[in-house]
Order: sequence, then C-alpha cells, then structure tokens
Amino acid sequence: MFKEINCCRICNSSNLSEYLDLGKTPLANSLVRPENKDKKEIFFPLKVLFCNNCFLSQLSIVVDPEILFKDYVYRSSVSKTFQNHCNQMAKELKKRFEKENLLVLDIASNDGCLLQEFKKQGFKVIGVEPAVNISKIANENKIQTINAFWDLDTAKKVLEEFGKVNVITATNVLAHVDEVSSFVSAMHYVLDDNGLIVIEVPYAENLIEKNQFDTIYHEHLSYFIFRPLIELFERNNFKVIDVQKVDIHGGTLRVFAAKKTSSRKINENAIQQLLKEEKSKNLYKIETYFQLAKNTEKIKFDLVSLLKEIKEKNQKTAAYGASAKGSTLLNYCNIGTDFIDFIIDDTPEKQNLLTPGKHIPIFPRSFLEENKTDFLLLLSWNFAKEFISKTAEHRKKGGKYILPIPEVKVIESEEEIT
Ligand SMILES: [Zn+2]
Repeated sequence: MFKEINCCRICNSSNLSEYLDLGKTPLANSLVRPENKDKKEIFFPLKVLFCNNCFLSQLSIVVDPEILFKDYVYRSSVSKTFQNHCNQMAKELKKRFEKENLLVLDIASNDGCLLQEFKKQGFKVIGVEPAVNISKIANENKIQTINAFWDLDTAKKVLEEFGKVNVITATNVLAHVDEVSSFVSAMHYVLDDNGLIVIEVPYAENLIEKNQFDTIYHEHLSYFIFRPLIELFERNNFKVIDVQKVDIHGGTLRVFAAKKTSSRKINENAIQQLLKEEKSKNLYKIETYFQLAKNTEKIKFDLVSLLKEIKEKNQKTAAYGASAKGSTLLNYCNIGTDFIDFIIDDTPEKQNLLTPGKHIPIFPRSFLEENKTDFLLLLSWNFAKEFISKTAEHRKKGGKYILPIPEVKVIESEEEIT
C-alpha cells in the first residue's frame, strides 16, 4: 500500500536524515461516515526526511496514489483571491513574450480556472488533468483538457496534437509528485526552445520557521525550499531564470525556468537574494530541522496540558476546521472526543461526518448556537481571523479561542493573532 523512500527524489542521494516523526496517522482527507465508524481505518507512518545533499524535505513513504486520491472531490468554490492570483499570473506571462497566439499548457489544470485567465489574455490553451470528473467540467467550459497524469506519454500526445508549447504552468502539483525528474523532463520534451516554465509550490519556509508541522500529511510528498528546486531543474536540462515569493495559500514560491540553451535573461539578483536569505535562515542545516521537531513536541505537550486543565475545571472545548491540517494535529497529539466535543466546519460536504482516526463529529456553525462551549480550538488557523469575526455570539457568552500554531496560546479576539 506504500513504498519507502531510500534515496532523495531530486538528487538520488541516500544521505537522508529523519528529523520529524508524527506517528502513524490515517489519510488526512479521509473523513469517516458515522455508519462506518467501527470499520478499521488504515494508518500510515508520517515521518519527514532531510536530504543532506540538496536540502529537500520529503516524506519517508509514498502511499499508493490509487488509495491516496480515490476520494478526491471537486471543490467548486474557487475563491476570489485565487482568481485574482490566476489573472495576475496570466498578465505577467503575457509581458514576458512579445508574440501573439502562443500556446499555454497547464498541468493538473483542474476545472480550467487558470487557463480561463490565459485565454482572456489572448493565449491558446490546453489542460492536462488526471481526475475524470474535473477534466469533464473543464471541457464543458470550453477549456480543451486531456484526462491524464503528466508523463512522457502524455507529453508525446500533446506534441503530436498541438506541436511545441510556449508556456507550461504547474501550480500546486509538484509536491504531490513522486517521480519529479520524469515530470520535469516530460516538460522539456514539449517545450519550445525559447519557452518558459512556471511552477508554484507551497514554500516550506513557514513550515520550518512557524512550526506549521500540521501542514504535513500524506498527500504532500515534498516540502520545497528554493535551493533543491534549482537542482531539480538543472538535472533536467533547464535553468532557473527567475523566482518570486507570492502571498497565496500561506506562502508560495513561484519559479521560472527555461531550457539551458535558451537565450532568456536570468534575474540573477532575485535568485541570489533568495538563496542568501535561505542560507541566513539556516535552511540548509539539519539542526534547524531538529529544532522544528523539538518545537513540535512542545506544542503537543502544551496543548494537551491546556485541554486537561480546561477539563478539570469542568469547562468545554470544541474546535473549528475539519481540515487536513486538523487531522494531522489531532492524530499526532492524540486528541479525541475525550477533550473535543465537536468540530465546526462551513463546508457542507464535511458536515455530519467524523474526523479521520479520532472520530470527532463535524457540524455546521449553527450547532454552536445550541451547544455552548468555553473554548474553540482553531485548527484551520489560516482562516482564524475570518472565523473569529463570524463567532461574535461565542465571545459574548465569554467564550475564548485556542491558537495551536506557531505556539499554543489562548486568545479572546482576532487582534491577538500576529
Ligand atoms: Zn537530495
């Protein structure tokens, strides 16, 4: 059901050090139907390794994709923020080319959200999306989409049907990919000699600096900083020509690459600046990662102690956000219905289900009105401000909040979130 990683997926080095062990956890997005609560769930080890050669962080195992993505659901509620992000990206790419009528290929193109924006900017577009139902939606929306995983076979198919591609985008997909070199070399196969690649990945800087260990779960195989990405591209006949930090999804890294033989100008300044920054933050040293492990243990200790204290006073705690993050945190800290009565989540598809492993029931926000609680543990801390502003009633009754990350803290208002 899973395979173990013995060498780095970017540089093949076997000089890997394990620095974080979050125990055995079920898949973070596998919510449980109440009628299945007695069925056995599958638990997988959740450990992170550091490559001492290229500095990539990666999970110690790869769960069989058939198991991992079988419950993949289409999320129709694409946010305004994300749409603006796509629009900005399409405009930026337009500036980098002077010609018209260029072809853009988006890998893991979802329902075509990004490609719609490229289309508006006058590009020809084509998507590749592995989920059958989602690629169908994209095609219905007039975004031509091939239903496939991205590999050399798909690249050949694209080349045959459409010819060389001028721009390839891959946003929020690389962290899910096991064989990253094949993934990138397939891009080389279809890219025009003067073409451009744009990839976006969650930037692991925040994970390391702000103790966001709960962003680790089995779907995310790699946790990228900039330096290993340069190594990945170089090994596959590309050169990184520019890099940007983008403020979306809690910190994203956008990397531009071109073929080694291309005459595209390199933004040496931006590249050197970021490498310098990473070095000064000690992101290339294993000690930094061992520190993250210590901080993670402290969060567990502090959180469990606080919940015990609350319970001893006969007070109640519920939580907000039945997210994948929440699943990692609850399972790693071994917090179940002994401490948390229920979880509030605004997503209708999650309501009335149970969290993976710990089986805490999930209810809509209205449930809170009839079921007063003293504390709300903010599992989806990235939406904490929004949630606090939506729960004025809870505060009026004297209710407080617990923020678990970057350190455990009881707060009374959104102003206390830094
Ligand atoms: Zn490596």
